[in-house]
Amino acid sequence: MARFIFVTGGVVSSLGKGIASASLGALLQARGYKVLLRKLEPYINVDPGTMNPFQHGEVFVTEDGAETDLDLGHYERFTGVNTTSFDAVSTGRIYSEVIAKERRGDYLGATVQVIPHVTDAIKGAILKNTKDVDFVICEIGGTVGDIEGLPFLESIRQLRNDLGYRNTLYIHLTLVPYIPTAGELKTKPTQHSVKELQSKGIQPDILLCRSDREIGVEERRKLALFCNIKPECVIEALDVSTIYQVPISYHHQGLDREVCKHFGLESKTSPDLSIWERIVETLTRPEGNVTIGVVGKYTALLDAYKSLHQSLIHGGIANKVHVNLEWIDSNQLEEEGKVMLMERLSHLHGILVPGGFGERGTPGMMAAIQFAREQKIPFFGICLGMQLAVLEALRNIGGFAEANSTEFGPTPMPAIALMTEWMKGDVVQKYFPGADLGGTMRLGVYKCQLESDSKTCEAYQSSLISERHRHRYEVNTTYLEDLKKCGLYVVGQTADGLLPEVVERKDHPWFVAVQFHPEFKSRPFTPHPLFTAFIGAALNQNRLI
Ligand code: GLN
Repeated sequence: MARFIFVTGGVVSSLGKGIASASLGALLQARGYKVLLRKLEPYINVDPGTMNPFQHGEVFVTEDGAETDLDLGHYERFTGVNTTSFDAVSTGRIYSEVIAKERRGDYLGATVQVIPHVTDAIKGAILKNTKDVDFVICEIGGTVGDIEGLPFLESIRQLRNDLGYRNTLYIHLTLVPYIPTAGELKTKPTQHSVKELQSKGIQPDILLCRSDREIGVEERRKLALFCNIKPECVIEALDVSTIYQVPISYHHQGLDREVCKHFGLESKTSPDLSIWERIVETLTRPEGNVTIGVVGKYTALLDAYKSLHQSLIHGGIANKVHVNLEWIDSNQLEEEGKVMLMERLSHLHGILVPGGFGERGTPGMMAAIQFAREQKIPFFGICLGMQLAVLEALRNIGGFAEANSTEFGPTPMPAIALMTEWMKGDVVQKYFPGADLGGTMRLGVYKCQLESDSKTCEAYQSSLISERHRHRYEVNTTYLEDLKKCGLYVVGQTADGLLPEVVERKDHPWFVAVQFHPEFKSRPFTPHPLFTAFIGAALNQNRLI
């Protein structure tokens, strides 16, 4: 039977519960265990698919097409294990399930209540499909004390009784702040947070304390005493220079040792952390530098580009260079006009235009694409970035001023348009205009066939690839001939040959744009081929900068 580890957060949000959970997963894997990571999200939305990226950050897409929290991206990047739609559970999803059951009469006339009906549904979601793994690490979103979180805390409290003390472990991640005027680290916020958790019937077994400096013996003793925790289970989680240092740093603080001890799995041998050591070594001692500009509309909140950011770093790891990122707001680029383009973009070694929704900011992105094309700067377009590369070519080379995406309004030349039907494997998928917004996109993995003489095929070293999608609009195949005349070629399409997936220019050192989201599949230990190739092209160019 799987053992369950529950990770809660206290004091403040944004302490990095996702990275902490993912790092523990990596450590248990390094000890030879099979792990599964799951996120319980107390918010009412069914999934984050319809949430504003400025509020919620990136929507991470799983292989099976679930739109999930960005923490699932950390889980995949740290463990290499693909998550599924079962691994993201929100209040909205639980309630939809409970209400559907109530309507069907499954509760046989009972009054439907939070305890036991909602908590049973939550417990069911936690336990689902966990037979084949050694550990399930279950992160509870939000901060202890949030009203939405109560049914989740109650459910994990019950699970200790259901599964037994030796099969469950509670880790509480907190902040131990340094107060400069007192010249001290303060333990009181953590004490209060643990009290809050205890009032819900949960006694944490391990405290993971985020701090910007070492936690002294005295503070540790205090934390252990007041929070009712063994002193060796008060684990210091110091700030580190790269997130990929976190597993190593937690190991040195004894996290995996204490976790294994709790489950009666003591071992004399140390886990093999060599992959993490190699990654950290490359990141801290790069052999060169490259500067990449990302021109997007959500640059004010970098969480909106979490996987993209990491994938570019991975591309740097593969090329042994430091990737210096410049986040350029496309709205600002548009406002400043063409005169500023030279100043903002000409020093870049590569330009990337990422995904996005809506028309706002797109003129700035198109200006950046045109600049990259004309100045022969390596260019990588992703999803909306690809669609805009198509529009840029048709408008500026082809002279089709009216070429547009139907996402931005009616147009006589819908070069990017909604497809009403497409295939996923053997099954016809249909889009119903006017239906609910949630879950109406082409989502999850699709196979893509690449032309063998393309740069993309060269990067992958394979002509059949599979990548994750999240979009509604497609390149309209009616205009492919016009596009060719503009020098933009479709070099990859869906396996059924219906939808363009990759476009490239042949008159440019590296101009590749893809309809899918390669950033969801990059890992620090297996950097994605397209990011590796893009950074490689940015490094090895003839242009004088
Ligand atoms: N807005 C575009 C579409 O829906 C692109 C989406 C994206 O970049 N993820 O097709």
